[in-house]
Amino acid sequence: MKKLFAADEKDIRNGYTKDVYFEHTKQILEAKGLDDMEVSMEFTSGSLPCGWKWGVFCGLEEVLRLMEGTNVSIYAVPEGTVFRPRTPASVRAPVMNFHGKYIDFGVMETAILGMICQPTGVATKSARMKLAAKWKPVIAFGNRRMHPALSGVLDRSAYIGGCDDVSSEAGGELIERKPLGTVPHVLPLMMGSNDAAFRAFDEIIDSSVPRIMLIDTFSDERTAAIEACKSVKNLMGVRLDTPGSRRGNFKELIDEVRWEMDMNGFEDVKIIVSGGLDEDTVAGLADTCVSSFGVGTSISNAPTLDFSMDLVEKDGVPMAKRGKFAGRKYPYRCPRCFTMGVALNPDEEIFCECGEKMEMIEKLIMKDGKRVIPEVKPTEIREYVVKQLKTLETNGTL
Ligand SMILES: [Zn+2]
Repeated sequence: MKKLFAADEKDIRNGYTKDVYFEHTKQILEAKGLDDMEVSMEFTSGSLPCGWKWGVFCGLEEVLRLMEGTNVSIYAVPEGTVFRPRTPASVRAPVMNFHGKYIDFGVMETAILGMICQPTGVATKSARMKLAAKWKPVIAFGNRRMHPALSGVLDRSAYIGGCDDVSSEAGGELIERKPLGTVPHVLPLMMGSNDAAFRAFDEIIDSSVPRIMLIDTFSDERTAAIEACKSVKNLMGVRLDTPGSRRGNFKELIDEVRWEMDMNGFEDVKIIVSGGLDEDTVAGLADTCVSSFGVGTSISNAPTLDFSMDLVEKDGVPMAKRGKFAGRKYPYRCPRCFTMGVALNPDEEIFCECGEKMEMIEKLIMKDGKRVIPEVKPTEIREYVVKQLKTLETNGTL
């Protein structure tokens, strides 16, 4: 069989996916005897896409797996940190600082940035989706819109940002949760009727899998909802995957299904909606009787965050390219409004414009290629994200 197009882990680790100009740099530094030079490099973002006011830093644990064993020390804000973009009056606060010989990690820049830029975009988008849903469950369904090599990464990032569940087995393994799913429309089509598909699901699929039936394959959703309620004893919910083109007034359709189920004594059966949902449609349905949302493309297709990796010190001497600020900088954050600041030493006292004393939020995570802080599980990272979003919500500073 011919090799598929995607890079595998070996390709990434040995630098096969890097931009070739890093290879040129490496060859020149080695030839000129500059391969002993120690540098400090920081990772920062400027403005955020789509006018976002905050981002959810995601991907650190994978970067650490990549860098383990290389002779580098890594300081970083915890994965899941909610950070603000640079304000006109502030210097960019780094999310990560790398120290060591450039030659030991410089060629990995392409991979490192890719491991945080896309995951941070996806995590931020799913946090926004969770807020749009007013904390109702959101399930990430967007893997099919991106290359399959990314499915675990996308699902993990969506979960960390606040999604409650994911749909792929690769993602489920990474976040240590069973992936969620019903059946595609193809099953009722192949079996010839809704009723046959509902009963077959209930008969064949392990009883630990929630009984959620897809009700928009053939007939009117109201009729199919009642059929599902009658065919499946422990029915948890019905899912409307109606594409936008057929929806008309989606809210009314949902209300009708709810009314019909309640009238027939199925008040406990939940309504789950999916199919082309974005932040606006989810926000518009958050106050309805919808119990949870399946969101695909708008999460997996989230804009990436343009972090950059810049040299800020060479052999202990501050230095930077034009447009960047030289010197090792420590990231601070206001505990109330999450405005970011920087200081040149980690003990400095700085205050936010809102009057609150800022906190230094960076930690030494890897020393000379060895972790000094144990791996953090996705569940804990997600809890940290949710806690921060609730703080912002409570303080009215979202
Ligand atoms: Zn503040």
